[in-house]
Amino acid sequence: MFSERLLKELNQQIKHEFYSAHFYLAMAAYLVSEDLDGFANFFKVQAEEEKFHAMKFFDFVNEMDGRVILYGIDEPLNEFNSVLDVFQKAYLHEKKVTQMIYNLMDIATEEKDYKTTSFLKWFIDEQVEEEAMMKSIIKKLERIGDNSSALYMLDTELGQRTFTPPTDQTQK
Ligand code: MG
Repeated sequence: MFSERLLKELNQQIKHEFYSAHFYLAMAAYLVSEDLDGFANFFKVQAEEEKFHAMKFFDFVNEMDGRVILYGIDEPLNEFNSVLDVFQKAYLHEKKVTQMIYNLMDIATEEKDYKTTSFLKWFIDEQVEEEAMMKSIIKKLERIGDNSSALYMLDTELGQRTFTPPTDQTQK
């Protein structure tokens, strides 16, 4: 069982992960409106990943006999200036999420809650990947600049992305 403080923070993280899904869907909607369906697909898949993250916290809290409480999800930003702007905002958002995971880890460590520290390690590694992925697309977009045929090539590439939930039991 968790401390009251840690339980509250874990429930907050469920909200943050669902908010991330919401935010990425808002990005997908903007990209569809810009006829960039491949980039939109990328963020739809990203939203699925975020829901998967939320459910990972949800299941963990339940498994540990904690009580899951769902909080309201804030309205995300819906307007963006460009596809580059979208990815820059996604990158900054992931950096914020990383800080949230570190904060959770700090609390769990301080409270010697070993099951939670072990559980959170997966998220620490996941955040490294999330930040790196956003950063690499930002770099590509910066190189692409005004070259619309290169932009559409990247759009096609990102249109191939699919969501595959991890099946490895050690990641549960
Ligand atoms: Mg996440």
